[in-house]
Amino acid sequence: MTFRTRTFVGVFVAASLALAVSTLLIERAMRDYLRRDIERGLMSETRLAAALLAHRGALTDPDGDADALGRIVGGRVTFIAADGRVLGDSAVDAAQIASIENHGAREEVVEARRAGEGSATRRSATTTVETLYVAVAVPDSPMAVVRLALPLTVIEDRIGRVRGLALVGLGAGLVAALVLIWAASLVINRRIAAVADAAARYRAGDFSRPARDHGADEVGVVANVLDDTARELGARLTEMARERAHTDAILTGMAEGVLLVTAAGRLVLTNPAGRAMLRLPETPGDRHYLELVRQPDVAALVARALAGESPASIEVELDPGSRQTFIAHVVPVDAVRGGGAVLVLRDITDLRRADQVRRDFVANVSHELRTPLTAIRGYVEALLDGPIQAPQTREFLEIVDRQSLRMDRLVRDLLRLARLDAGQETLTLGDCRLVDVIGAVTSDLDTTLRARGQTVQVALAADAAVVRADPAKLSDALRNLVENASNYSPQDGQIEVATTRDQDCVILRVADRGPGIPEADLPRIFERFYRVDRSRTRDPGGTGLGLSIVKHLIELLGGRVTAANREGGGAVFELSLPAPSGPPA
Ligand code: ADP
Repeated sequence: MTFRTRTFVGVFVAASLALAVSTLLIERAMRDYLRRDIERGLMSETRLAAALLAHRGALTDPDGDADALGRIVGGRVTFIAADGRVLGDSAVDAAQIASIENHGAREEVVEARRAGEGSATRRSATTTVETLYVAVAVPDSPMAVVRLALPLTVIEDRIGRVRGLALVGLGAGLVAALVLIWAASLVINRRIAAVADAAARYRAGDFSRPARDHGADEVGVVANVLDDTARELGARLTEMARERAHTDAILTGMAEGVLLVTAAGRLVLTNPAGRAMLRLPETPGDRHYLELVRQPDVAALVARALAGESPASIEVELDPGSRQTFIAHVVPVDAVRGGGAVLVLRDITDLRRADQVRRDFVANVSHELRTPLTAIRGYVEALLDGPIQAPQTREFLEIVDRQSLRMDRLVRDLLRLARLDAGQETLTLGDCRLVDVIGAVTSDLDTTLRARGQTVQVALAADAAVVRADPAKLSDALRNLVENASNYSPQDGQIEVATTRDQDCVILRVADRGPGIPEADLPRIFERFYRVDRSRTRDPGGTGLGLSIVKHLIELLGGRVTAANREGGGAVFELSLPAPSGPPA
């Protein structure tokens, strides 16, 4: 049943009840009033009749007189003798008068004879209708009492007419109420429908059109309150959505894996890193964490946090054999926030690897320093122990000198690497003519090359004669490569230095005809302290850091360095360096 129907039925019933009750009350008041009025009128007429009949002496035709009087007053008129006999009656034929029952005991007659007037209401034995009787004593007349009777159906007739009118009023009132209620409900209904429509839209999350109703009545108040609430709710929802988006962005951008588990152990939130680390599906769904987190140590950690503990972080390998190390950290969520646990996974493989590299480096440095140090100590002790022949002393001192030189080189190279690592070497970039750089390097190494009968053949392409670089750093790198080439080249060998152009780069090649580098070692020769085979080099005093420094220097210049073997034997190192931005000089 709609609100409109209910309002209508309610008002209709109320209006009908009001009209029915008022009609009933009016009817009762009307009946009393009419009865009293009729009684009063009847009494007056009876008194008048009694006054007319008094002192008239004997009546010749009492029944005819009663009939005439009855016609005048429009009621039944009865003349009663002092002994109660009926002398005339307007409702009875003259022939039957004698047979009428004696009226001396009638209540109104008794009363009239006693007090002069009397009245009574009862069902008439003659007419069988409810009748009002009024009797008045007639002085000085053979007829002792005159009685007028009026059937009370008159009252019912009049009341009936009044009731008829009331019913017409009721009908008219109801029709008016119907129209008014319909019109009122139409207006209210339209407003309520608008509010209900807005409420339905709010529920669907659409806050675009407000429910605002400018009326000051209850519907207006409801609409305005609803609208205010919806607006506030909408603003909060937008704020929440924005916060959620921020959280999502943070979680998505995080390198750490994050998982949120409810107090019941259901997985409710994961970020991409976490899913990748634990090999979870893209949408894990609302499943128990034990179904998804297979790593027993991590699962146990989550279980402890769910039990309310704050366990210490653990280091785990999520994929056996992957050599990837993770730190798993779990924190319980406060019970007031719904309980549960947050698991954070951090990949510390690189950290561990860097740690290992550092440890290896320290071990290598110690080892590299100890070798010359042991030699120096041994020969110094031998010298101190003396006495030694003069030529032997010289030999020992030369060894001490060579070893201390080697230590010096090592420390210098280490310091240089440290400076390069820390980005402390400043760059002075400019266009370098390669013929100058190569010339400077070969003349620096001239003594050594001459001693070994080695020659350096230079071949520069016209479009690859200049590079954009820091000349000092480039010649350091080149010197190292040419030195290596000389060290590994045979006596009287030839070292080739050539350049070619490759788009925006100049390729500088240093090639020799030495033993080359075993293929397996090629990827590692730029590592610190990596040596292929100590016995192969002519100068075992190399620090093992040379190529590592070359790589650092060339990368600092924005280039790349690679190593390869030549066809027909020998190694070739290729430096790729940026060509100058302008036209070739
Ligand atoms: P070192 O100071 O010991 O030469 P480098 O870093 O310069 O150290 O070289 C690393 C290793 O690379 C050397 O030990 C050597 O085995 C190998 N190597 C370097 N240059 C050559 C080359 N031209 N021919 C053959 N092997 C080379």
